[in-house]
Amino acid sequence: ANFTELGLISPLLARLTELEYQQPTPIQAQVIPSVLAGRDLIAGANTGSGKTAAFALPILQHLFEQQHSDKPLSKGNYVTGLILVPTRELAKQVADSIKSYAVHFNGAIKTVAVFGGVSANTQMLALRGGTDILVATPGRLLDLISSNAIKLDRVKTLVLDEADRMLSLGFTDELSALLDLLPKNKQTLLFSATFPEQVQTLTQELLNDPVEIQL
Ligand code: AMP
Repeated sequence: ANFTELGLISPLLARLTELEYQQPTPIQAQVIPSVLAGRDLIAGANTGSGKTAAFALPILQHLFEQQHSDKPLSKGNYVTGLILVPTRELAKQVADSIKSYAVHFNGAIKTVAVFGGVSANTQMLALRGGTDILVATPGRLLDLISSNAIKLDRVKTLVLDEADRMLSLGFTDELSALLDLLPKNKQTLLFSATFPEQVQTLTQELLNDPVEIQL
């Protein structure tokens, strides 16, 4: 299949052409239609597989369509698409990719990255008025929630990227605190290179009838 056949809309297709993505990677071919269909999903994916675009493109598409519907979301202090990642490097990288995929939305979709190791002030300013997509490491996100900089009550899609690394880096407590703050009714996507017991437990607690993708 090509990207058009996967169901992506033209502002995204135009960008993929510019980036010279000629065809979907295997994980993209499987993930994109399932996410567009609203399914929960668990996927075995390494870096380099194209997993970022696999979740970012359909999430961007949903947000864009929502904004152009007759019921656009008011941003307030809220985030709609939440992507949790284990490290600050990955947070920056994922946010940069998303911003790049969204260039032909002409600023309609706001993406912010938050992570530890730097002052929270700039990140709090960036979150003013809410954001469509937030890419975050767990600890810093909890801090920002405590400061009322952002609220998770209206998250519609949650992505756990590199879930195994997130758990092995000791984010278990932060993660469960965050999951408690999320609405029950949401779409959840979990990506992991490996599936140790901790990841399997998380999967069972969090995912609702997920599509399982193992390449
Ligand atoms: P990721 O696995 O998400 O870290 O992506 C790895 C690299 O592959 C990134 O540099 C992407 O820009 C690139 N990439 C992702 N999808 C495609 C594609 N369909 N065709 C060509 N390059 C891609």
